[in-house]
Amino acid sequence: MDAISRHIHINGIVQGVGFRPFIFNLALEHQLAGWVCNSASGVDIEVTGAASDLTAFIKAIPVQAPPLAQIDSLEDHAITLQFFEGFKIVPSQDQATDFIPVSPDVAICDQCREELFDPADRRYRYPFINCTNCGPRFTIIKEIPYDRPKTTMAGFEMCPNCRAEYENPRDRRFHAQPVACPVCGPQVWLEDAQGRHLADREDAIQAARKRLAEGKILAIKGLGGFHLACDAGNPAAVAALRERKHRPDKPFALMAFDLPIIRSYVRAGEPAEALLRSPQAPIVLLPKVENAALAPNIAPGQSRLGFMLPYTPLHLLLLEPEPGYPEVFVMTSGNRSEEPILHTNEAAREKLAGIADAFLMHDRPIDQRVDDSVVALFQDHAYPVRRARGYAPNPIRLHRQVPQVLAVGPQMKNTICLTREKYAFLSHYIGEMENWETLQDFKAAIAHYQSLFRIRPEGIAHDLHPDYLSTQYALEQAESESLPLIGVQHHHAHLAAVAVENGLPPEEQVAGLIFDGTGYGPDGTIWGGEVLIGSCASFTRAYHLQPLPLPGGEAAIRKPARMALSLLWALGVPWEADLAPVQALSQIERAALSHQLAQGINTPQTSSMGRLFDAVSALLGMRQEVTYEGQAAIELEALADPGEVGYYSWQIEGEEIRIAPMVTEILSNIREGLTPATLSARFHNTLARISLDLAERVRRETGIEKIALSGGVWQNLRLLETTTDLLRKHGFQPLTHQQTPPNDGCVAFGQAMIAAYRLSPHKE
Ligand code: ZN
Ligand code: ZN
Ligand code: FE
Repeated sequence: MDAISRHIHINGIVQGVGFRPFIFNLALEHQLAGWVCNSASGVDIEVTGAASDLTAFIKAIPVQAPPLAQIDSLEDHAITLQFFEGFKIVPSQDQATDFIPVSPDVAICDQCREELFDPADRRYRYPFINCTNCGPRFTIIKEIPYDRPKTTMAGFEMCPNCRAEYENPRDRRFHAQPVACPVCGPQVWLEDAQGRHLADREDAIQAARKRLAEGKILAIKGLGGFHLACDAGNPAAVAALRERKHRPDKPFALMAFDLPIIRSYVRAGEPAEALLRSPQAPIVLLPKVENAALAPNIAPGQSRLGFMLPYTPLHLLLLEPEPGYPEVFVMTSGNRSEEPILHTNEAAREKLAGIADAFLMHDRPIDQRVDDSVVALFQDHAYPVRRARGYAPNPIRLHRQVPQVLAVGPQMKNTICLTREKYAFLSHYIGEMENWETLQDFKAAIAHYQSLFRIRPEGIAHDLHPDYLSTQYALEQAESESLPLIGVQHHHAHLAAVAVENGLPPEEQVAGLIFDGTGYGPDGTIWGGEVLIGSCASFTRAYHLQPLPLPGGEAAIRKPARMALSLLWALGVPWEADLAPVQALSQIERAALSHQLAQGINTPQTSSMGRLFDAVSALLGMRQEVTYEGQAAIELEALADPGEVGYYSWQIEGEEIRIAPMVTEILSNIREGLTPATLSARFHNTLARISLDLAERVRRETGIEKIALSGGVWQNLRLLETTTDLLRKHGFQPLTHQQTPPNDGCVAFGQAMIAAYRLSPHKE
């Protein structure tokens, strides 16, 4: 039997996921000699053995790969015959320009969970237990290749027991970089709001539980940053947290020990439970059950609650069920209002001092702050709302090679995106670019992703809005590095994002129904209710919502009542005293508003669909003032009668969607005493019908049947379901978001796709 040798190169997520021990054991199984090693561009293997064994070995790699591995390519070629002694795992090799995707953080696996609660295990109740299949990754990786000295675990020297596991290819912890135990690894402690040390280790965890049971607010250091936690069954504790965080209404996320507990508060079902249990362990938004025994102020005005399962051993220990202790925690981001989530002990002590009663700290540094991810469930699949922990920095895979570009994203819900080869590295959620802290975080994220994936952009894409901090950064950077700038219209970016992530080629034309809050239009007005026809190459604006005045800009966004009166004014409908938004504003405010509208003072025009939702919510008497973005629309959706099928009239004249008929009918419905639930449902149904009407017009004019749905308004599942049903029934193919959120979290990705296409030398 003749021996042959082959070299194999594998690309994808193959580091930090148990890939080398898997190869080691597979090679032994097939009687092969040789070696495997991590390089900065993936995993390299050389093997010698019988041809049939080699073939079987290569075939088995993608089939039997470990659960967290993601193979993007496997190339192999013959090499001259090599004589190896046994099979070895050899040290990492690095070449300065090579790169591979980095694994996101992974929720605790079942085996580690069993060890955590096994009194015989040497890691019994150790809050940092992890293995090759689970634990921190992106949040602790400073540089590649992924090796312990390049992580925040560098300062912890392994004890002999941990080292033996780390070096044994047959062990589950072989080369698990964050491997640790109570003897050698990180520890927790509790301190009070003045920084005084209260307790260590298990005592600290028990003392923290006790405080939570007493209604106290705790800052808890986790995987990607701090949480603020309290007992979700205690309305006074929740109210105190709202008061101290200056967050009157915005819903809080929840965490419970296991699925049976979660089932008593929300309607989950198999697909939702699979998501909750997934290695990404996101917050899943689910319909709440009637009379759930939780504080009513957790998610006021909402029909859904956001639940997640404990994704670290520390969370499991904190939530372990015991009579007299809370079974559900509020777990909200540890930050001050719109600032980034805090991730260092020092910053948390300083900034959460007035909020938390005590701090549960640990000494494993967090290199990258990452928020919890949020997903909804649409047609049994994850529908992203906030893409962060567990998902980032996993790239979006592209069908074509692209040039290296940087896209800096929009102002709100900012993310950045860097491209290379067939990857788009869309960053974790960075946040609202409205303060110094977030801007610093944004700059740090760009630097980190560029160095991690070794990307040198050939161009920079930005939003057309001249005042966005991200736009200003792009202008400065392009100037200092002499790079081309690609300005991308906000809603064009939305369209490109959803089209490309659905696998469409960059030049394929689609119709985008882009229903959004705010986006700068090339005509200087604020867009947001748009039908765009285009591809990554270009777009045209085919239809749009009739523009309405936005009196006072931000003031109109904060007060839907102003938007409702503006709508009535624009349609020539008098401000009758029986209408809720008329009653909500004082005589003086109405007089000022009327003057402002008549004179056009600080009153930009907007075709925003988000503002139409605000106006309708105010007309229905539901919400005259908001305390967080999207509140009026979310509450309007929550209210809609699921069984109602009625809808209102509209007109399309030229490019404009005219809503006067709908508003007239809404007003008479209000005066007939129909319930807000009926009116809200009819309003939703009308928008779905308008969507179908627009799609039919586009098909008649262009033959296009692919309808891309993007923009923050499409987080509205009632609207999304009704619209996609109607579109499908009429032969259209709706394209909805799968990997990126419909809100502005997708904009950087869309910008990157448009810029990459413009800079691409091989346009087809
Ligand atoms: Zn594990
Ligand atoms: Zn140890
Ligand atoms: Fe947007």
